[in-house]
Amino acid sequence: MTGLPSHLELVQGVVLPKPVGAHPVLDFVNTRSEWTNGGPARTEWLTSYEAFLIWNSYIGLLSPATVFRLIEQTGSSPTEVTRRLQATLDFRVDLYDVLTGQATESTFEAAARLIEKASGRRRLVRTDDELTWELREDLALPLHNLALLAGELLTSPSRDHVRTCPSCGWLFLDPRGRRRWCSMATCGNRAKVRAHAARVR
Ligand SMILES: [Zn+2]
Repeated sequence: MTGLPSHLELVQGVVLPKPVGAHPVLDFVNTRSEWTNGGPARTEWLTSYEAFLIWNSYIGLLSPATVFRLIEQTGSSPTEVTRRLQATLDFRVDLYDVLTGQATESTFEAAARLIEKASGRRRLVRTDDELTWELREDLALPLHNLALLAGELLTSPSRDHVRTCPSCGWLFLDPRGRRRWCSMATCGNRAKVRAHAARVR
């Protein structure tokens, strides 16, 4: 028992929100709370570059072995790590605006340039008889990997199925048009309690 709320999980010493977005890019956007207030997050889960790395393995975007090696690299490059964490948080803001159709010219440009940069860093590699795109394993990998996935999502039909939780502003995919809340356990439940309180008043 960790005593954590049910929507959070303790992973390798770091508290992270459980995935509810049905897409890793949306779960990346959901690594901070309260998008709806237009200001700073009340809760930030990407509190360090290491937390971001652990989140990547928790969501299944990077293998635990890769994350282990990258965490080892962070010790020798503190300046780079600070810069990369800031770039990650900046991308998350720009991406949120693009995904929710609120992007200004400059936020769109910032997100698009990062996605293009990530695209340019891919290498076509041959494994057995398959060809795959790969990114080099270095401290740029996690953000560039996310940027590539974001580029795919933004240009795919799934983009039309991205919904915003009316309570907290988190994003999720809703291909069947049946979901209203990011999660019934948190925002859905709060709304139910509010509705009940209004009825009995
Ligand atoms: Zn919500």
